[in-house]
Amino acid sequence: MEKNGGIAIGIDLGTKYSCVGVWQHDQVEIIPNEHGNRTTPSCVAFTHSDHLIGDAAVDQAALNPLNTIFDSKRLMGRRYSDPSVQSDISLWPFKVVSGPNEKPMIVITYKGEAKQFTAEEIMSMVLRKMKEMAEAYLGTAVKNAVVTVTTFSNSFQRQATKDAADIAGLNVLRFINEPTAAAIAYGLDKKATIVGEKNVLIYDLGGGTLDVSLLTIEENIFEVKATAGDTHLGGEDFNNRLVNHFVQEFKRKCKKDLTRNARSLRRLRTYCESAKRTLSYTVKTAIEIDYLYEGIDFCTSITRTRFEELNMDLFRKCMEPVEKCLRIAKMDKGTIHDVVLVGGSTRIPKIQQLLQEFFNGKELCKSINPDESVAYGAAVQAAILSGEANEKVQDLLLLDVTPLSLGMETAGGVMTVIVPRNTRIPTKKELFLPKREDNEPAGLIQVFEGERTRTRDNIMLGKFELSTISHSSRGVPEITVCFDIDEKGVLDVSVVEKTTGQTKKITLNNKGRFSSKDIEKLVQEAEMYKAEDEEQKKKVGEKRIRAKNALENFAYGMKKTIRDVKMKVYNAVEQSVQWLDGNQSAQAEEFEYKLKELKEKCNFIIAKTYGPGAAPNMAGGKDKYNSSACASGEGFKIEEVD
Ligand code: ADP
Ligand code: MG
Repeated sequence: MEKNGGIAIGIDLGTKYSCVGVWQHDQVEIIPNEHGNRTTPSCVAFTHSDHLIGDAAVDQAALNPLNTIFDSKRLMGRRYSDPSVQSDISLWPFKVVSGPNEKPMIVITYKGEAKQFTAEEIMSMVLRKMKEMAEAYLGTAVKNAVVTVTTFSNSFQRQATKDAADIAGLNVLRFINEPTAAAIAYGLDKKATIVGEKNVLIYDLGGGTLDVSLLTIEENIFEVKATAGDTHLGGEDFNNRLVNHFVQEFKRKCKKDLTRNARSLRRLRTYCESAKRTLSYTVKTAIEIDYLYEGIDFCTSITRTRFEELNMDLFRKCMEPVEKCLRIAKMDKGTIHDVVLVGGSTRIPKIQQLLQEFFNGKELCKSINPDESVAYGAAVQAAILSGEANEKVQDLLLLDVTPLSLGMETAGGVMTVIVPRNTRIPTKKELFLPKREDNEPAGLIQVFEGERTRTRDNIMLGKFELSTISHSSRGVPEITVCFDIDEKGVLDVSVVEKTTGQTKKITLNNKGRFSSKDIEKLVQEAEMYKAEDEEQKKKVGEKRIRAKNALENFAYGMKKTIRDVKMKVYNAVEQSVQWLDGNQSAQAEEFEYKLKELKEKCNFIIAKTYGPGAAPNMAGGKDKYNSSACASGEGFKIEEVD
């Protein structure tokens, strides 16, 4: 098994969900987590005793909104003042503050103590979880991985992902773009039918990002022609629209603002997420939330049409990058052979409809799993790099492109592009710099990434001083700047001063990144958390887990039972009330009969649920239930039974 440094896994580190796959038995296997789920929420929670990752973190989110961290991938490699960070923070229930070098720091309370984490640390916990799932599944240690990144991740975001992997004890063999990974899954699925060159549009709409990529596939060669997208558009935005809709409805109906309570808002959000998913399969769904805010139950419903109305502008926005991508690739939509759906949000029927309409009614390709295809492709790439792959895939060649333009600052703060966006990598480009008019040493070389014409609007990757410079007339090329990008997407910038032959390599500015010392410290901390978690597990052991599960099962079961009983009793009472309304002048015997009938009905419902004798004793005697609550119509309150 051990080749080229051992087995390597493929990880789709998603904003919302992560997924891990491995090449085994001549195929990709997607690895389930301990709950049997093939995707794991990229969510981390801290409690007074525990540190939870994945489904366990999501399950307790409503009870612990301030310490349940999701979407932290969106913070990676960004500064606190970044408008996208500010807009995210305004919607999150947990707190984020500005740390050293403007690094966003997530503030939580763990074991009763305030703590701060970077997004990289939080994502490293998710990566570690994926690593451990793979290790449990394979029964062996896993050190290497191919990790996917969105096409728009800039150098800082890639570096941040690498930092997260380092902290998790994972060596990143290669980053690959998510759509390229999905295209591999598609390519293998369609291998038998691919003849000649195929143009494939990968449409990936996830939780918070939209990535559109156009690739050509020919004889195992995958070439990215163009990419476009939106880094702030996805499932979460559709949820927000639903949440706002119901907040307004609650205001209208109950005259209360439920946004004042983080827990109520979090609960509503969870129900909205599930309603949205249901509406991908049905045209209407009900929402019933007990005690949503100040003890008020919220019962409502929403149709698919209404959901679409609420989101129509966003859905339309989801189509814009498709056009843009075709424009960049200089291709006509008629030349696209297949449109491949990736990402959970492509299950939304309206999205599919708009896409299909755009491509003049073309059938969309849904044969690959939208949740797993990215991890699938990453696993294939991991197998190729670790030497595990068989002949089916080992010839596969990825031709990737630069996601953003790379260049340097020239006079007047202008961005001079050296490697344009969408250039196939690996690549090497050179630029001759004319000497400046003032004959001053053109000392400062500043490297930027981005599409704006002014460098101040782009991202600075690094800078350095070139201290000695020759004296010759203006206009003669003396300094050569060379941008060299390897197949991993790593940029090397070197400068050669011609007359002296002096060469300098760029030292990237470490601002906002971790130094190797930082990483070491964070690895130790991560190990400490892991050890603590294990200690905790050991201490409380199986017995605690069983006891906790039993309580949880009973509590949730009871919650559902109460809801059912409440509904049934309510219906019975409602029938009697309606009868009363229409029979105000009935005879005494009729009222007596109706009362007896209602009591029997209620007795029956309760006895059937809780066992004989459990119903409120209508004839007096010991009440297990608070009958005054029944009488006042507030529903049942179960009191302690001795
Ligand atoms: P990411 O890659 O950003 O982590 P995913 O591709 O896993 O995201 O997609 C997650 C998004 O997909 C979430 O916003 C989720 O609500 C949405 N989603 C999942 N299933 C459905 C569905 N049946 N209908 C609509 N949206 C869905
Ligand atoms: Mg994704």
